[in-house]
Amino acid sequence: MGQKKVGFPMTLMYYLHYPLWKVFFEELGFEFITSIPTNKVILDEGVKVTVTDACVPIKLIHGHVLELKDRVDYILIPRMVNADREKNITFCPKFLGLPDMIRASIPDLPSIIDARVDRKSGRFYLFNACKGIGEQFDKPFMTILRAYRKAVSALKKFENLMEEKLLLPQEGIEVLFNDSPPETESPGDLNIAVLGYPYQVYDTYISADIVGNLRKMGVRVWSMEMVPYSTLKKYAGKLKKKLFWHLSNRVIWANYHYLNQPQIDGVIHVSAFACGPDAMVDKIMELECKQRNFPFLNITVDEHTGEGGVLTRLEAFLDMIRLRRGGA
Ligand code: SF4
Repeated sequence: MGQKKVGFPMTLMYYLHYPLWKVFFEELGFEFITSIPTNKVILDEGVKVTVTDACVPIKLIHGHVLELKDRVDYILIPRMVNADREKNITFCPKFLGLPDMIRASIPDLPSIIDARVDRKSGRFYLFNACKGIGEQFDKPFMTILRAYRKAVSALKKFENLMEEKLLLPQEGIEVLFNDSPPETESPGDLNIAVLGYPYQVYDTYISADIVGNLRKMGVRVWSMEMVPYSTLKKYAGKLKKKLFWHLSNRVIWANYHYLNQPQIDGVIHVSAFACGPDAMVDKIMELECKQRNFPFLNITVDEHTGEGGVLTRLEAFLDMIRLRRGGA
C-alpha cells in the first residue's frame, strides 16, 4: 500500500505552523503536501462555497481545501483555540469553528484531522494535540514523542529564522527545508513596518504582493515576526483592556514596538475586508500613529483587490514620507 497523503491548505496556519506539521506527519510516515499558492481559481472557487459575509482568508481556505480534496487521503485543519497562556485570549471565532464550517460547506471531503491546539490545556498543549493525532493512526507512543520533538525543533528554527531578518514565511520554509540562501536585503532609504495577520500579509496573490513590491521600491520592510514574542508581550499593558484575539493583540503590540524604534519611517497595516477584529485593530493602530504624528497607511484586501490600486497607494505613501523628510 502506498504512503497515505495528508494535505495542508496553503493559507491561515500554513504561515505560522507549516514546519511543525510537515515534520510531524513525515516522521509518522505520511506524505505531507500543501495546496498550490493562492490564484484566481482558488479564490473564485472559495467564494462560491463560503457564506457570503465571511472574511477573505476564510473564503480562501475553502478554495484551498477544494484544490486539495481529490489529491489527498486526509486534510489537516487544526482547531486553533489558544496560543497564549493568558485567560480569555483565543484565536478569532472563525478559527475555533473552522473544521466544522468547512465540513458543512464542502461535500465529499476526505477525513479532516482537526487537532485541537489549546494552550490553556496545559504546558504540553502542543504535545497533547500531536498525541491525539498519533493515536488516531495507532502510532506507538515513542514514535509520536520522537516525531513531536523533531517537529517542535523545526518550528523553533523557523521562528528564529524569521526573527533574524525579514523573510517571508515562504522564504523561511525554503531556507529551513532546502537550505537555499535567503535573499539579501537591500539597505533601502525607507524603513517601513508592514503589520497584519501573516495569512494576509504574506499571501502574495491576495495582498497584491505588498512586501515584494515595497522591496522593489527600495524599502526595507520590518515585520511582526521579526519581534520576539517576549518583546511583544511587554506592550500588553498599553491598552486598558487586551483584545480577546491572540493574533490581533500581536499586531497591536508590534505597532507599539515599531513606533518606539527610531529607524522606522512609517507603518502599513494590511487588513482583511469583513474581518471583525480588524475593524478594532485598525482603529487602535491609526489613533496611536495619529497621536504621535506618525505616517500610517491601511490597505484592506478583499477578493477584488487589484495590484494597480495597491501600488498607487504605496507609492503615494512613500512619496509623502520622503517629502516630510525633505528628501524628495
Ligand atoms: S481574524 Fe479576521 S481575517 Fe482572521 S479569520 Fe478572523 S475574521 Fe478572518
